[in-house]
Amino acid sequence: MSATGVMEPPCLAPGLRLPEGLSAEEARTQLAAQGVRYALASFVDLHGVCKAKAVPIAHLPAMLAGSELFTGAALDGVPQDVSDDEVATLPDLSSATVLPWRPDTVWMASTLHLHGQPFEACSRGILERVRGQAARMGLRFHLGVETEFFVLKRGADGSLAPASSSDSLEKPCYDLRGLLDNLDWLDELVQAMNGLGWGVYSFDHEDGNGQFETDFGYADALITADRVTFFRLMAREITRRHGLIASFMPKPFADRTGSGAHFNMSLADLESGTNLFTPADGAGSWVSPLGRQFIAGILRHAPALCAVIAPTVNSYKRLVVQGSMSGFTWAPVFICYGNNNRTNMLRIPGAGSRVECRAADSSCNPYLAAAMLLAAGLEGIREGLDPGEPNLVNAYRLSPEEREARGLHALPRTLGEAVEAFAADPLGREVFGEAMAEAFISFKRQEWASYHGAISRWETERYLELF
Ligand code: GLU
Ligand code: MG
Repeated sequence: MSATGVMEPPCLAPGLRLPEGLSAEEARTQLAAQGVRYALASFVDLHGVCKAKAVPIAHLPAMLAGSELFTGAALDGVPQDVSDDEVATLPDLSSATVLPWRPDTVWMASTLHLHGQPFEACSRGILERVRGQAARMGLRFHLGVETEFFVLKRGADGSLAPASSSDSLEKPCYDLRGLLDNLDWLDELVQAMNGLGWGVYSFDHEDGNGQFETDFGYADALITADRVTFFRLMAREITRRHGLIASFMPKPFADRTGSGAHFNMSLADLESGTNLFTPADGAGSWVSPLGRQFIAGILRHAPALCAVIAPTVNSYKRLVVQGSMSGFTWAPVFICYGNNNRTNMLRIPGAGSRVECRAADSSCNPYLAAAMLLAAGLEGIREGLDPGEPNLVNAYRLSPEEREARGLHALPRTLGEAVEAFAADPLGREVFGEAMAEAFISFKRQEWASYHGAISRWETERYLELF
C-alpha cells in the first residue's frame, strides 16, 4: 500500500507465461526462482467459482501429477456421494498465472480426474470434450467475453452505493467523470490483465451507476473460460483492497441495467486459424453460411441454453425490456438473431464475422456456457440448419401480433422455465453427461423452489391488506 492508501501497481513477475513444453521440474525451478512460494490447483464448482488447494512450490511436480484430492460431495455440482473416492485435480501448466496482487502464488486451472480417468462431471472437462468434437470437425472455437460488473461500496447501514458518490447520473453510460473517479482500481485491474497478456482493448463506464466493462482479446474458448473465471477472482480481490465490492450478480438494481457477459463467438479452421464466419462474398457485415448454421443451432436450443448461460433466479430480472432509468435494458428478450441491433439475442456486430450471444450473463459458469453454446452451434452445422430471416428492427417495440407474425418467441421468463427447458432438451445430457446434467437440474430446481418459497417484501406490500 502507498502512503495514500492506494495499492501500488501490481508487481508482476517477469515472464508470467511459462515457456511451452516445460517439464514439471523445470516449471518448479523457474517459478521458485522468480519468488513463487505456493501453487494453487484450482477448478470450479457448478457456479464457476474457484476451489483450490495450495501446495508449497517444492511440491509442484507432485501437484502437476495429480496429488491434490477433493471430495466432490462438499461442493455444489461436483456430483459425488460422501462415501466416494476423491477426485484429483490435473493442473494445466499452460494456464499458470502468477497472482498479480500476490506474486508469491501461482494459479493453475485444472480438470478433475477420478481413478486416473477424466471425471465426467468436470466443468472444464465438459468444455474440453465439446472442443474435441469441434476439432474432429476441423474447427476451433474462438471466444471473447465482455465482462460487465458493478463495483460498489457498502455504507455503515449496510446499503450499497456506487464507489463514487457523484456516480448518480440518470444516463451514466460512457460517463467520463464516473470512469475517472474509478480509475485507481480500474488502472490496477487493467494493468494486471495486460500483464497477463490478455490484450485489453477498452474499458468503460457501463449503463448502470457503479457499472463497468472491461474488454480483452478473444482466444481459444478454453483459454477465455479460464480467464473469465480468473477475472472474477482478480476483480474481487483488487477492488476489495480499495474497500469496494465487485459484483457479478446479473441484476443488482431493479431500475438499472444488468450485467451481461456477451459471448462473442466464431469458428476458425483448426489448422490455418482462418475465421470461417467471414463471408466469402465480401458482405462484410454478416457471417458465412457456416456462421448461419451455427446461429440456427443456438436458436434451436435457446430455451435450454438459457438455464446455463443465465443460470440464476436473478438472471431473468435482467432479461426484460425495460427497468433501467435510461430506458431499455439492452438485454435480449426474444429468440432471434440479426444485425448490429442490440435487441437481438444473437447479434452480428457491425464488422461481421462473429456472433455475439447477449443472453449470457455475468453469473454463468463460463466453461459450461461455452460448452453448451458450442455444442448447439455444431449441431446446427452438422444438420445444415437455416436460421431463417434476421431480425433487423427493434424487437422491444414489436407488438405481440407483429412478433407472432415474425415467429419471434420469448426467452424463458424465469429460472424455473429455463431449467425445465434444459431438462426436456437432450442436448443438456449430451453435453454435460448424465451425472452432471442430473446434478445441475436438481440443484437449479431447488434454487428455483427456494426462491419461489420465500415471501418477498413486494408481495406483503401488495397483498397484505389488499383484500
Ligand atoms: N448491460 C447490458 C446487458 O445486460 C448490455 C449493454 C451493452 O450492450 O453493452 O446485456
Ligand atoms: Mg456492455
